[in-house]
Amino acid sequence: MKVVRTVAALREVLADTGRVGFVPTMGALHEGHLSLVQAARAAGGTVVLSVFVNPTQFDEASDLDAYPRDERRDLTLAEQAGVDLVFVPGVGEMYPDGFATTVSVTGPLTETLEGAHRGRAHFDGVATVVAKLLLAVRPDAAYFGEKDAQQVVVVRRMVRDLGLPVEVVASPTARDTDGLALSSRNARLSAGERAQAAAIPRVLQSVVDAAARGETEASLLRDRARAGLTAAGLAVEYVEIADPDTLEPVAQCSGRELVLVAARAGAVRLIDNMPLGGSR
Ligand code: AMP
Repeated sequence: MKVVRTVAALREVLADTGRVGFVPTMGALHEGHLSLVQAARAAGGTVVLSVFVNPTQFDEASDLDAYPRDERRDLTLAEQAGVDLVFVPGVGEMYPDGFATTVSVTGPLTETLEGAHRGRAHFDGVATVVAKLLLAVRPDAAYFGEKDAQQVVVVRRMVRDLGLPVEVVASPTARDTDGLALSSRNARLSAGERAQAAAIPRVLQSVVDAAARGETEASLLRDRARAGLTAAGLAVEYVEIADPDTLEPVAQCSGRELVLVAARAGAVRLIDNMPLGGSR
């Protein structure tokens, strides 16, 4: 496995390769990231993984500071998973002095859910860094987790709008044995907070089950979910039932929507979602 830190070195290594599959991450790798690597490997060709904790997508300085970083561990896990090339740029490589360009996906897509709660700058940071990474790696396909459902929709919109020649592939959420979606932030949960957090997948599943039993009233499903999360000790930021393509909230469920949650266990902000109709 090769490790490169500059775009120039990356281009050199990738000069004569055939198909390239790309998995962008912020490191602190877990089975969720590695499931994206598996999906990329299954498609064949060279698998590139990037590790870059992107400062511009953090809306809280404390969250950026507390973000787990362990390059040696990440490289070991990447190698074991069969990654061919790891791109680990420094902040100066991605944002050179005088950096003044932002890729901004505007409109309702970035104004709801995460956009409403984390602020507009979050998705500007995501779109800008993903555009830069895609231009640096120039992959045939890029792999993203359905756990960050809004991120997938925003990236798809940007790729379509800019005409970037890449296939965006969304991969299912990898979960712990109790259902909690794997996340680099889980490492920051105390034992008590970890137990509270386990309510998130339980409550999401109960919404899926209620919808399967024929409940279509979104406000009722939302209210019950909010109550369940609050009862577990979580501070709920949002519970929403939204169209999977536009992420616009719906009043009546047809069965194809996503139920999405953001909630805090202590200081740790967690997000998760499930499709009402079962796995996507
Ligand atoms: P991050 O390092 O958190 O920016 O995540 C990098 C990529 O891994 C993103 O596309 C995430 O959506 C994806 N990812 C994070 N957690 C999971 C998970 N539990 N299952 C599947 N994909 C995930």
